[in-house]
Amino acid sequence: MHKIDNFIDGQRQAPVSGHYLDNVEPATGQVYSQVASSDADDVDRAVAAATAAAPGWYELGATGRAACMRRLAALVTAHADALAQAESKDNGKPLWLASEVDIPRVASNLEFFADAATQFASECHPMTHGINYTLREPLGVVGCISPWNLPLYLMTWKIAPALAAGNTVVAKPSEVTPATASLLAELTVEAGWPPGVLNLVHGSGPKAGASLVDHPGIKAVSFTGGTATGKAIASAMAPTFRKVSLELGGKNPTVVFDDCDFEQTVDQVARAAFSNQGQICLCGSRILVQQSIYERFKKALVERVAALRVGDPTESTSQQGALVSAAHRDKVLVAIDTARAEGGQVLCGGHPVEVSGRCSEGYFVAPTLIEGLDMYCATAQEEIFGPVATLHAFADETEAVQLANATRYGLAASVWSNDVHRCHRVAKNLQCGIVWVNCWMVRDLRTPFGGTKASGLGREGGLEAMRFFTEPKNVCIDVGL
Ligand code: NDP
Repeated sequence: MHKIDNFIDGQRQAPVSGHYLDNVEPATGQVYSQVASSDADDVDRAVAAATAAAPGWYELGATGRAACMRRLAALVTAHADALAQAESKDNGKPLWLASEVDIPRVASNLEFFADAATQFASECHPMTHGINYTLREPLGVVGCISPWNLPLYLMTWKIAPALAAGNTVVAKPSEVTPATASLLAELTVEAGWPPGVLNLVHGSGPKAGASLVDHPGIKAVSFTGGTATGKAIASAMAPTFRKVSLELGGKNPTVVFDDCDFEQTVDQVARAAFSNQGQICLCGSRILVQQSIYERFKKALVERVAALRVGDPTESTSQQGALVSAAHRDKVLVAIDTARAEGGQVLCGGHPVEVSGRCSEGYFVAPTLIEGLDMYCATAQEEIFGPVATLHAFADETEAVQLANATRYGLAASVWSNDVHRCHRVAKNLQCGIVWVNCWMVRDLRTPFGGTKASGLGREGGLEAMRFFTEPKNVCIDVGL
């Protein structure tokens, strides 16, 4: 069976313990590889390699680092098909989605932050008799911990700014989707990266992840994942005052007003709720619709969602693939049962899907829409992170904003209306880090990305990320005038 090892100091390394975990293909339910089950010993080795590599990486300068990153981006593009196949197999997402979204974005992340490395500048604050300038230096060795839903997309969204800013990295991908991270690490050798600049430690969150967070050689942690895990990481880092960036869960509202562009909105609301089987932190899982169009909108949306084809991720006709694991599939089905117990009416879906042939043991769930739930019940409050969305009616703008904000989360929202004044008002009043108006998940990598409330701390993207991965130091000079 193929073994996915750690990648430390520019080469594959078996875990010190010799232990591996099974890696399952979600679409078939079959174990198809084994991944290193790392612990503190492996983290020690990775941090040592990253520490040794740090001065050389810094001394390459912004131009040298950017050149390395651009060579890697070119190799990602050259190997895009193999990477997309690996991502789809590991995660269960449709192959076309991995090919059209995940892997191109990996290349863009590397290219974007290669540019950022060469364009990054710091502040200067002149005074009457002096001048201040701000040095922004890399932190040293940083930890990047990423989830399974957009595995390589989100890992590179972290490692690219960290490396561009001159840090070296120890990354821990999710143990359920380790494959593409390892392929990328091997491509760094072909791209001529110095050994130790990017290190991967595979394994479980509580063992490999927690050891990485606890290691004193790790100067900052950039984490994307669940809110409970983020809280544990923030608590572990706090006593040593190390930096932490947290991109956490969401329960995002989609707010549909009666003056929206109806057909386009139905399409985009379905896309926002069910892309990647609803396993995107930005998915709009609470759909709020103005009372005056509620019944008509519901009918059109149910028709649209019920028609989504669930099937083998390798087939181009499959619009929905498998959920990432049996445990996650079960969690989603329990959430649907809870919704029924809370008085929700399932409008479509609400059950597992049996896909014949090679996928007969896979983890498929029908896209599910539920109505009739109070906004404060568990279904409408807890993140399900699967193909489940709830529908709620609102009377007017005031109630729309109140319902949209009635959650402990505050990651993203989308607003659908042709009234430009209302769009600005609602966007301003929503408690979240990202608002899309008449669109969803349109991304400009320069913009601040992240959430408020229980959705996280800090922002990624553009200069925000470059600032997170550097330490500012003000130098004040008396110019003697
Ligand atoms: P988890 O929080 O379970 O895991 C995320 C990562 O953290 C994984 O690599 C995991 O390892 C690791 N981990 C788990 N426990 C610890 C620990 N104690 N110390 C250090 N690392 C740990 O999230 P999921 O992987 O289940 O991802 C889904 C969640 O991620 C959802 O809540 C979703 O909203 C959120 N998310 C947020 C995004 C954002 O930008 N705000 C974007 C994408 C997802 P392992 O998997 O091996 O257990």
